[in-house]
Amino acid sequence: LPEQEAFDIEYWLLEEAKLARMPKPKALAGKIALVTGGAGGIGKATAVRLLREGACVVLADIDETALANATEELSGVFGKDFVRPVIVNVTREEAVIAGFAHAVVEFGGLDILVSNAGLASSAPIEETTLELWNKNMDILSTGYFLVSREAFRLFRAQKIGGNVVFVASKNGLAASPNASAYCTAKAAEIHLARCLALEGAGEQIRVNVVNPDAVLRGSKIWAGEWLEQRASTYKTDKDGLEEMYRERSLLKRSVFPEDIAEAIYFFASDASAKSTGNIINVDAGNAQSFTR
Ligand code: NAD
Repeated sequence: LPEQEAFDIEYWLLEEAKLARMPKPKALAGKIALVTGGAGGIGKATAVRLLREGACVVLADIDETALANATEELSGVFGKDFVRPVIVNVTREEAVIAGFAHAVVEFGGLDILVSNAGLASSAPIEETTLELWNKNMDILSTGYFLVSREAFRLFRAQKIGGNVVFVASKNGLAASPNASAYCTAKAAEIHLARCLALEGAGEQIRVNVVNPDAVLRGSKIWAGEWLEQRASTYKTDKDGLEEMYRERSLLKRSVFPEDIAEAIYFFASDASAKSTGNIINVDAGNAQSFTR
């Protein structure tokens, strides 16, 4: 719909009647997206969601094997012309710059950045080494800064607006036990998104945040050290943790990578054209957020 002074339902219905008779174009046809952590659980689900809507997707990841597998898998479904891999360590400035240049060369520009590459770490404060603290800050806060800066540079050069979606965490808003480095780095991501929303608004560059709660299935995070540490903090195993998170939610449902991808797609598409600096928590209604 074109901009109007006041919302006009009659006009809207007339337009709707015209649209109903036309074949539906894909919502992201012709758009180019770069997804960091694209070989991981949430990243790959996001790539699928964006590809389904016709976008071309650059998968950026540090894990060469997972990246090659994800590229092959997605190319097999959506076609080779729509998927490109690029090995990028988001904490390395030169690698990030080169990775974005790759996207431009391969597909001819950039419309959407999904900053998602990350980790999770857990340790009580007295056992949090400077190395662990810096690792969280490097990959999460600094990594999100570096990729956003590159996206902004491209968006401003292209002069057609742009779209950034951060995958942060509910732990960036609500503290989680024995995870101060992770929670602090995730809080920084959320505030960075707000700052960038303010900076980009004049040029129609939107920046929004999706906060997942625990996504145990499909995520590599929940296969390693983080799983052991969480299991030890809550004195249970993976199934027990999944049950705990489900029971803690108001809807009594687990959250999956596809659920996060759906919220990311909303922010990445024109369905959210008037949203910037906003957050969607995908947490099935986390009871910690409510006083009852
Ligand atoms: P995942 O481990 O399945 O995927 C993360 C991907 O990021 C991996 O493929 C990994 O190789 C990549 N990566 C890590 N460090 C990188 C680096 N320096 N440069 C480039 N790529 C790098 O995990 P996921 O669950 O899909 O997590 C995605 C995002 O969601 C992360 O930012 C994570 O913190 C956040 N998150 C996850 C959960 C959850 O429960 N799974 C909850 C809240 C937030």
